[in-house]
Amino acid sequence: MDFDLFVIGGGSAGVRCARIAAGHGAKVGVAEERFWGGTCVNIGCVPKKLLVQAGEYGAWAEDAAGFGWSIVKGSHDWNKLIAAKDKEITRLEGIYRRLLTGANATIFDARATFIDAHTLDVGGKRVTAKKIVISTGGRPERPPIPGAELGIVSDDAFYLPKMPRKIVICGSGFIAVEFAGIFNALGAETHLVYRQPLPLRGFDQDMREGLAEALAVNGVILHPSSTLGKLEADGDKRILMFGGGETLSADQVFFATGRVPNTAGLGLDNAGVTTKPDGAVVVSAKRQTSQSHIYAIGDVTDHINLTPVALGEGHALADSLFGNNPRELSLKNIPAAVFSTPPVSTVGLTEEEAAAIGPVDVYVSKFTPMRHTLSGRDRKSIMKLVVDQATQKIVGVHMLGEDAPEIVQGLAIAVIMGATKQDFDRTVGIHPTSAEEFVTMRSRTRVAGIARAAE
Ligand code: NDP
Repeated sequence: MDFDLFVIGGGSAGVRCARIAAGHGAKVGVAEERFWGGTCVNIGCVPKKLLVQAGEYGAWAEDAAGFGWSIVKGSHDWNKLIAAKDKEITRLEGIYRRLLTGANATIFDARATFIDAHTLDVGGKRVTAKKIVISTGGRPERPPIPGAELGIVSDDAFYLPKMPRKIVICGSGFIAVEFAGIFNALGAETHLVYRQPLPLRGFDQDMREGLAEALAVNGVILHPSSTLGKLEADGDKRILMFGGGETLSADQVFFATGRVPNTAGLGLDNAGVTTKPDGAVVVSAKRQTSQSHIYAIGDVTDHINLTPVALGEGHALADSLFGNNPRELSLKNIPAAVFSTPPVSTVGLTEEEAAAIGPVDVYVSKFTPMRHTLSGRDRKSIMKLVVDQATQKIVGVHMLGEDAPEIVQGLAIAVIMGATKQDFDRTVGIHPTSAEEFVTMRSRTRVAGIARAAE
């Protein structure tokens, strides 16, 4: 065999797994056909956050007047922003590449496909490996409507040659609401078209309602409970027809309607690796596929599609296989953030999920952050604790508001440690902050949930 381990896909999961395995002494090869660091570094989390931050500067320029500054907001140069973002992404891509070579892994800038269960075609070269990891990630999926190819997806949004003056974003998941914030803040007339009554299905109801309100206050034009009919071109314009017949014309129509695992053409059949109908690789808790020496990690398995989960799975797998430290990443209480404007962050159960298990005490606080008492911006923060009534353990923490991801990251440790409401109550706040509200919520807002059935 040429390698102890061959990793297909140099994104978050693959690079971490390859680097750690090589550090444990394994002979490792990694193939990446597009860019090192994968979606997160190149066309996902990292550039997305830079674009969110670009939008924030415009809002801060407007808000400064309330603090005595006479700042003129001026215009925004999209191409300058994209060039600056590209420079940073190129730097990061180089770091990812060097992380691997520095760990003595052999890298292939090529596509790898299975010839059989131990043999790969890597850019036309036959390579054999004792163990193989599939970490090819996912890709955006357009909806099944006529003309869908006329719309853009998140991969394209990072490279638009010019800033659209009017954009329609379809969907209301992570990507849709994040980009609605970006394009709206950078000055585009932004429409959000989604089929649910509220955005972010699966999130806590108070956060969903708060986000819909915040998006509307920011100037995003919301089209809830709307299905998609077809997309047509009229010269450079795009005309979206809703399922109900209403039409919207814009410079761009952006489909943020979900992602699918990247397994097409990988030759998984040649290796006897089983997939689900959507292409996701079927794995055990130990990330083993239907072939015991082939593993799959990250978005290609389509379970919790978050970078830190992919990193954690890659690290745990490398430690298990080559570090004499068999372990699995715990998927309980994974914190997450949506970098909408303002952001939403959460750890643990929603009120609805917790209430379905048993009675819960719910604490909700909605307030104007101090900065906006002077800025005059109409922006609220919402904080919420969901407490198991029997044990008084905090089972859910949710926040919509500025700095939510920074605040919830710390609170996630408390939740994972099993902190109770009384632990939060005896924690002294840091004043004046928004975060202190989490340790000063004394009055229960409501009780929810059913009594647990006699067990
Ligand atoms: P999501 O699954 O989060 O959202 C997909 C959206 O598209 C939903 O609103 C869904 O509606 C809608 N949709 C799907 N199919 C159709 C259709 N045929 N017609 C109309 N609407 C449709 O996917 P995203 O693409 O936003 O993100 C993919 C994943 O990537 C996320 O789930 C997350 O795991 C990850 N991600 C994480 C980020 C972060 O951590 N900040 C940022 C970006 C992505 P409905 O709700 O009705 O199904």
